[in-house]
Amino acid sequence: MLYLANDDPELAKLVINEESRLETTLNLIAAENHSPQSILEIMGSVFNTKTIEGYPGKRFHSGCIHVDKVENLAITRGKSLFGAEYINVQPHSGTSANLAVYFSVLKTGDRVLSMSLPHGGHLSHGHKASITSKCFDFSHYKVNSETEMIDYDRVREMALSVKPRMIVAGASSYPRLIDYEKMSQIAGEVSAFLLADMAHLAGLVAAKVIPSPVPHCDFVTFTCYKTMMGGRGGVILCKETFGKKIDKAVFPGCQGTSAVNLIAAKALIFKLAREEKFVSIQKKTIQNARIMAEALMEKDYHIISGGTDNHQVLIDLTSRSISGKSAEDCLESAGIILNRNVVPKDETTLGKVSGIRLGSGAVSARGMGEPQIRKIVELMDMAMMNPAKKAVVKEVRNRVLKLCREFPVNRFAEA
Ligand SMILES: *Cc1c(COP(=O)(O)O)cnc(C)c1O
Repeated sequence: MLYLANDDPELAKLVINEESRLETTLNLIAAENHSPQSILEIMGSVFNTKTIEGYPGKRFHSGCIHVDKVENLAITRGKSLFGAEYINVQPHSGTSANLAVYFSVLKTGDRVLSMSLPHGGHLSHGHKASITSKCFDFSHYKVNSETEMIDYDRVREMALSVKPRMIVAGASSYPRLIDYEKMSQIAGEVSAFLLADMAHLAGLVAAKVIPSPVPHCDFVTFTCYKTMMGGRGGVILCKETFGKKIDKAVFPGCQGTSAVNLIAAKALIFKLAREEKFVSIQKKTIQNARIMAEALMEKDYHIISGGTDNHQVLIDLTSRSISGKSAEDCLESAGIILNRNVVPKDETTLGKVSGIRLGSGAVSARGMGEPQIRKIVELMDMAMMNPAKKAVVKEVRNRVLKLCREFPVNRFAEA
């Protein structure tokens, strides 16, 4: 930071402020985590300046002697960590990874079956605002309105009537395990390709605390910055037979030069993911989410699907006197950071957001456990039920601060 402070004190100050914000607030954003310090280091290394196109040994610029080794490390480690036949580590993001998968084996206009966004799906799964919906013909399955879980019989019925070329299993806000085996049977029945988008779950899968989609799917995509705790960027795993098609679809199909610094960060997190520290954070992440859901249900919150199997807890606030946005804002004033989220009931009212999504990854990475999680739920409840009472919100803020001081962001130094 020495050089930045000299070149641009204004920006340097913002970095310091951001560090302090992270240190003094509780991060419950399911799509974030505290990366190891070494990840931040490698992302800021000279690999950031190398321009590469193509793949190791087949580049369009010279000077790739070291970056080829970097990419090969990411490839070898990633394949072995996830038990995948083939891997592409170049996608800039989860969305780019999904785009490349679609374009690798589909023709524009082909039918795809994926999860509806208010029911948990992602923009890149054919939402009308996403370019994916302009290129392919998406149909969406929903969760069962009673159980708020995926209804596989319904998915199968839809698959039989839609006859998609591809089925997408995977979600942005779905707290339950996905039965990839069942999805694969359904895909097999209609001769569709199966893509699992495990963007949120990669860290949990890497640590083997939840089942892996890899054995059951033609393609698996993920991002490295959610439970995976790595830098930004996406990854594609696939069966060997699709390897060449995937490589072409990523470059030159959907991207130009790739980010060597991020590829290096991917190689690094694939190594760290084998360490006990990483595995124990992922175990704790699952336990903490479960405790969070239980504690909230004890306070009569409507938890989507009645619990969780992963790092996410979704609260439907419809029956409470507070909207998703007001809850998000009031909790931010109290130092608890999360995001408002659409819930299944919102799909009929345009623009309505009645839920909030909680993730246990970042607080688990800080070393918090059951007593802290129970405390966080108490504090959330206090703030959310008294959003207009400044004194209450301030009291919560103070207690959040105290908790943060007891559990500093350690960035993998010790966990
Ligand atoms: C977060 C997420 C993505 C990510 O995409 P970015 O392009 O990296 O923002 C893709 N799919 C799902 C299901 C996600 O949750």
